[in-house]
Amino acid sequence: MKDLQGRTIDYMRISITDRCNLRCKYCMPEGIRLIPMEELLTYEEILEVCLQAAALGIRKFKITGGEPLVRKGCANLVRNMKRLSGIEQVTMTTNGVLLEENLKALLEAGLDGLNISLDTLDRKKYEAITGFDRMDAVLSAIDRAMDSGIRVKINTVLQPGVNDGEWNNLLELARDRALDVRFIEMMPIGYGKECGMVSGEELLGKVKEVYAGVEKDERVHGNGPAAYYRIPGFRGSVGFISAIHGRFCDSCNRIRMTATGDLKPCLCYQDAISVRSALREGSGDEVRDVIKRAILMKPKMHCFEQMQNVTEHKKMVQIGG
Ligand code: SAM
Ligand code: SF4
Repeated sequence: MKDLQGRTIDYMRISITDRCNLRCKYCMPEGIRLIPMEELLTYEEILEVCLQAAALGIRKFKITGGEPLVRKGCANLVRNMKRLSGIEQVTMTTNGVLLEENLKALLEAGLDGLNISLDTLDRKKYEAITGFDRMDAVLSAIDRAMDSGIRVKINTVLQPGVNDGEWNNLLELARDRALDVRFIEMMPIGYGKECGMVSGEELLGKVKEVYAGVEKDERVHGNGPAAYYRIPGFRGSVGFISAIHGRFCDSCNRIRMTATGDLKPCLCYQDAISVRSALREGSGDEVRDVIKRAILMKPKMHCFEQMQNVTEHKKMVQIGG
C-alpha cells in the first residue's frame, strides 16, 4: 500500500529475536536486558503478521535479529513465509557465525538472499569488535554460501580508528567473488551514537583514488537504499548505505517489526504501534488494521543529522537494523 507521502511500502524487516551470539559494541552493549521469552512473538504470530502484511501489498521480507540463527526453527519460518500468496522474496541478515550449519536448511526452505555482517578481516580486530573469536566461521560460511549460488551481500560498518583502514581488504572480497560489499554509515542509534562514523561519500572518493574506472552500477541489487558502483576487474560491486549523508527517505519502501511485535515506521523515532494484543486477542482484520496504521504513520524523513531530534532509545539489536 502507499503511505501518506505516496511511497509504496512493499518491504518489511522482521526481527525474530533480541538474542545474539556476538556482542558488537555499537549494537549490543554488555549488560543489556534481554526481553522475557513470553513477550517475543511466536513463529505462528509472526506468520500471521506476514499474512496480513502480504494482503496490504508487502512483497518482500527480511528476517533479522538480534541474530536470527540463534532462534531454532528459523528455516521453517522462511519456508512458511515463502508459501504466502504475493510474497516475492525472503532474505536474511546474519552475522554468519551459525550460517554454515544452517545453510542447507535455509536453501531448502527457499531463502532468496543473505546479508552477512563482517567489519574486518583481521581476527584480533574481529574479536575486539564482536567480543568473540569467530571470524573464521564467518569466512567459511561466506564461501559455502557463494558455492551454493545464493545471492550474498557483505555488510560492513566502519568506525574511525577501529577498522576504517580496512575498507580496502574488505572490498577485495568482491574481486573474485560475485558478491556485493556494502559500507553502512554508523547510525546514531544506541551506542552507535558514541562510535563515530565514516562517511560513505568520503569513502567513495578513496575508492576512486585507489581503483581506476569506478562507475555507477545502475542494476537493481536489492530492496534498499544502497548506491552501487562497479570496479573494472571485479566480479562483485561495492555499495554505500549512507543513512546520514545520502538522504534516501523519498524512496523509503519499508516498515519494521521488532521481536515483541512493535511496528516501527522509521528507524530514527521511537514511535511504534504494537501488534501483539491484536495478535493475541483480536482477529486477522485487527492485525491488518494495526499494520495499516503503522504504514500511515511513516514520517516524511529521518533526522539523523540532528542528533537532538532522534527519539529512538532502543539499541540496534532490539530493532534489527
Ligand atoms: N545479527 C545480524 C547481523 O549482524 O547481521 C542481524 C542484526 S544486526 C542489528 C543488522 C545490521 O545492523 C548489521 O549489519 C550491523 O552491523 C548493523 N548495525 C548495528 N548497529 C548499527 C548502527 N548503529 N549503525 C549502522 N548499522 C548498525
Ligand atoms: Fe549481534 Fe548483529 Fe548486533 Fe553484532 S550487529 S551484536 S551480530 S545483532
